[in-house]
Amino acid sequence: MVRLLVFIMLVWGAYHLIKKITKAYFASFHPRQDQYGSDSDAELIRDPQCGAYFMKQKGVKGVIDGQVVYFCSQRCYERYLKSRSAK
Ligand SMILES: [Zn+2]
Repeated sequence: MVRLLVFIMLVWGAYHLIKKITKAYFASFHPRQDQYGSDSDAELIRDPQCGAYFMKQKGVKGVIDGQVVYFCSQRCYERYLKSRSAK
């Protein structure tokens, strides 16, 4: 009976140890949410539609195929979407 109790405690301990390790393991692999942080808002980027350069913070943010794309204006964004769907 004592052996069974020791066994249960060992399993319980191992379970929590594994849980702790896997938690730390996965936490180190999770992508950071701040990859589109505000530190690069003043960056000069190119509009893929009209080719104009503009400040990122003044651009129009659009998400295309899961990627964040910036446009100089709402019009360019809409044009870009239209040209894509026309293909
Ligand atoms: Zn544009």
